[in-house]
Amino acid sequence: MQRKISIFGATGSIGTNTLDLIRRDSGAYNVVALSGAGNIDLLAKTAIEFRAEIAVTAYEDRLEDLRAALQGSGIEAAAGANAIAEAAARPVDWGMSAIVGAAGLRTSMALAEHGGILALANKESMVCAGDLLLSQCAEHGTTLLPVDSEHSALFQAMNGENRKALRRLILTASGGPFKDFTVEQMRPVTPEQAVKHPKWDMGQRISIDSASMFNKALEVIEAKYLFSCSSDQIEVVVHPQAIVHSMVEYIDNSIIAHMGSPDMRGAIGYALSWPERAENPIERLNFAELGDLSFSRPDETKFPALRLAREALGMGGHAGAIFNAAKEAALDAFIGRRIGFLDMATLVEKTLYNAHLEPTRDSVQSSVSEIFSADAEARRIVDALI
Ligand code: NAD
Ligand code: MG
Repeated sequence: MQRKISIFGATGSIGTNTLDLIRRDSGAYNVVALSGAGNIDLLAKTAIEFRAEIAVTAYEDRLEDLRAALQGSGIEAAAGANAIAEAAARPVDWGMSAIVGAAGLRTSMALAEHGGILALANKESMVCAGDLLLSQCAEHGTTLLPVDSEHSALFQAMNGENRKALRRLILTASGGPFKDFTVEQMRPVTPEQAVKHPKWDMGQRISIDSASMFNKALEVIEAKYLFSCSSDQIEVVVHPQAIVHSMVEYIDNSIIAHMGSPDMRGAIGYALSWPERAENPIERLNFAELGDLSFSRPDETKFPALRLAREALGMGGHAGAIFNAAKEAALDAFIGRRIGFLDMATLVEKTLYNAHLEPTRDSVQSSVSEIFSADAEARRIVDALI
């Protein structure tokens, strides 16, 4: 029996890595929907290769281009955020949520309705609406498998363990390209410098977020929801070799670490074969050749993102959505060269503590539309501050 699958964000780094694994055993899968944004050629080519039922671009003004590229293939073409949400509502056994940003939230919520597996790369869904997404999964009997390397590692280190015996989660961070820079050295860095991650090959936005440690900040919030921990049970440690993907400490002082090469096909492959394990093409570790593994405390004065994430966690409700939206807007401004690298954290902090956001911050997460209102308000505040 073929497994029905959909991949949202199919043209991105996670999407193409997922398709690389699917391609190796393509007879096992029936691809329902694939989505992309501006890269119409790749989206159409992939949809034709995998005989998808439907291909959707996020951009409404690219619908005709997509139709033309799919002509004669019999594959449906659609465009726009609503069309993506409708495609994600088509039943599948396994759905990959790998759109970047809060734009992926509706997809995650729709995929969580199918009762199968939601492979969640889009960490922003968890950061913005962790309570809503988890209750959506619980209501429909959907299994959520994290596809962030750290969270996949934590999930694997909890296999068969009693969660009550869990003391602490230790998230590893490579430290990014500016690990050894001073604040003054970081001030003038450009998007081109920030995007060059020393260990992981990822999309542009998450790579820059890794350089500012906003990626790790999002991951602290993601871990809190995924594993229902308190913020003080989550520690971040810098580990430049990116071999230990994260660790769990138990009450008997045992620590279980997950290790592997820094290759996202590890976490994606785990979510594809779960609950079994399957062979994959990633490089095996050779400890004798690895040499030293080192660990150190992150410098929160240089990287305020981690402190801000804990403050957002303390606020609860919509603070995760506000934190993420402010970060996304600040990142857009940095990529557009309207602000400097260090201004991103300043803008997020100011937005998080903006009086206009008081009512949304205090409330519980009640609906996706309220999450998007908080998100839009935070983006307006950032734009007004720039
Ligand atoms: P990417 O930029 O390489 O790809 C993003 C995908 O989303 C593309 O298919 C793009 O067409 C689509 N997209 C962009 N904007 C969109 C919009 N507004 N609406 C709909 N679709 C849109 O990003 P990525 O690195 O693959 O990351 C995807 C997600 O996975 C992010 O949430 C990221 O944090 C998470 N993640 C990525 C990695 C990694 O190694 N790349 C690791 C862990 C988690
Ligand atoms: Mg990660």
